[in-house]
Amino acid sequence: MTNYDYDLFVIGAGSGGVRAARMAADCGARVAIAEQRSLGGTCINAGCVPKKLFVYASQFRADFAAAPGFGWTMDQPGFDWPSLMTAKNREVERLHAVYNKLLQTSGVTVLSGKAKVLDAHTVEVNGKAYRSERTLIATGGRPVTPDIRGKELVVTSNDLFSLEKLPDSIVIVGGGYIAVEFAGILHGLGVKTTVCNRDDKILNGFDDDIRDFLAEAMVRQGITILFNTEIKSVEKADAGYVLRLADGSTLQAGLVMYAIGRTPNSGGLGLEALDVELDEHHAIKVNEQYQSSAQSVYAIGDVTDRVKLTPVAIAEGVALAQVLYGKSAKPVDYDHIPTAIFCQPPVSTVGLTEAQARAEFKEIDIYKTVFKPMKNALSGLDEKTLMKMVVERNTDRVLGMHMVGEDAAEMMQGFAVAMRAGATKAVFDSTIGIHPSAAEEWVTLRASPS
Ligand code: NDP
Repeated sequence: MTNYDYDLFVIGAGSGGVRAARMAADCGARVAIAEQRSLGGTCINAGCVPKKLFVYASQFRADFAAAPGFGWTMDQPGFDWPSLMTAKNREVERLHAVYNKLLQTSGVTVLSGKAKVLDAHTVEVNGKAYRSERTLIATGGRPVTPDIRGKELVVTSNDLFSLEKLPDSIVIVGGGYIAVEFAGILHGLGVKTTVCNRDDKILNGFDDDIRDFLAEAMVRQGITILFNTEIKSVEKADAGYVLRLADGSTLQAGLVMYAIGRTPNSGGLGLEALDVELDEHHAIKVNEQYQSSAQSVYAIGDVTDRVKLTPVAIAEGVALAQVLYGKSAKPVDYDHIPTAIFCQPPVSTVGLTEAQARAEFKEIDIYKTVFKPMKNALSGLDEKTLMKMVVERNTDRVLGMHMVGEDAAEMMQGFAVAMRAGATKAVFDSTIGIHPSAAEEWVTLRASPS
C-alpha cells in the first residue's frame, strides 16, 4: 500500500473530468475530484446544454410564423426572457444534482474549491493537502477577450447565460461556432443582431459551400453580417455602446459580445512548479496517453486545446481511465468526428471538406443538392436545405458529408457511423430511403457529380 489518499485526483468537474473520475472509480481506483464552480463545467453551465435550451426557445419565432400556413390562428405571441432564464436555471440545477449523484454512486470524493498542485503527488484544496499518485487536469477553457480599447465593456458567451435583460440590439464579434449560434438565438428572441466577421466568410475550417449557404440564410432571416471587419475600440454611449471600426465607420449596439475563440484554463494551478510543458496557446502538452511532461500529471479536454468538443473530452476521459485502471484500453480515434453548429438553420458535418479532399486525393466527386423542405411548402418560409457529399472516385468511399438544414445534427450522427464503417457511395445508393423525410435525399443523390 502507498501512503496516497487517492490514486487519482481530478481537477475540474466538467464533462471530461467527471467521466474520467467515474470511470476510474468504477475500475476500483480511489478518486477525488475538485471543482471551484459548479459541477458539469462549460457544457452544463455555460455551453452546450443551456445554449441548446436557448436555441429551442428562439426557434418558436419561425414556428409561430409558419403556423398560419397550417391553419392555425393565434394572437401575437409574447416572449419573457426572465421566464426562460428561470426554466433554464432549474434544468441546470437538476443536472448538477445528477452529476453529484453519479459521482457519489461511483464512490468519488467531491471537493468544492479551487485546487492547486503543490508537488508531483500533492494537491491542495481549501488549505488542505491531499496526496495522490496521479493528478488529472481537466479544467477546460474560457472565452478569449479582445485586446482593444474598451475591452472591459464587452461580454462573452459566459455572460449571456446570466444576462438579466435582453438588449434591443447586439453586435457579435467573431464568425465561429459561438458567434453564429448566438446570432441565431438572439435574432430569434427579437434582438436586432449584427455579426462582425474579420474575414470574407464565416465558419473558417468548414466546407465553403456550407459557409456561403449559412451566411445567405442568416442574412435572409434579417441578421446583418459585416465581413472583413476589424473593431478598433468600444465606448459607452447614452443607450448602449459605440464600436469604432478600422475603416473609420461606427456601429451602435445595446450590447457587444465577443466570440473569438476559447483559451485553455492552465494558469493558477501550480503547474509551473512541476515544469508541466505548455504550448504557445497555454495548452497542456500531452502524449498519446494524455500524460504531460510531468510523469504523474495528465490532462484531457479543452485544457489540451485539441478538439474542443464535449464528446471528445468524454471519450478522452474514458480512454485515460481505461489506460490507467481498466482492462480494455482503447485509444480515442480522432478520425471522422462529427460536429454540429446549432445555428439556424443548423449545420452538421463529418469528414473532409471539398478543399481538404482535393488536397489529399487525386480525383474526387462532389454530389450536392439544394431543396425546399416539405414543411416549407405550406409554412411560407423560404428556407432551403443544402446537402453535400464528397466521394473519392477510385474507391467510391465517402470522404465527407456536409449539411445545412433542419435536423442536420440528428442525421449526421448516424452517417458518421456509416462513414467510420467505410461506407461507399454505392452503399448509400443501395439504401432504401425513409419517405417522406429530408434524410432520404442522402440516399438519392444521383445528380451527376461536378
Ligand atoms: P471559433 O474558433 O469557432 O471561432 C472564433 C472566431 O473568431 C473565428 O471566426 C475567428 O476568425 C474569429 N476571431 C479570432 N480572433 C479574432 C479577433 N481578434 N478579432 C475578431 N475575430 C477573431 O471560436 P468560438 O469562440 O466560436 O468557439 C470556441 C470553440 O468552442 C469552438 O471552436 C468549438 O470547438 C467549441 N464549441 C462547440 C460548439 C458545438 O459543438 N456546437 C458550440 C460552441 C463552441 P478566423 O476564423 O479568421 O480565425
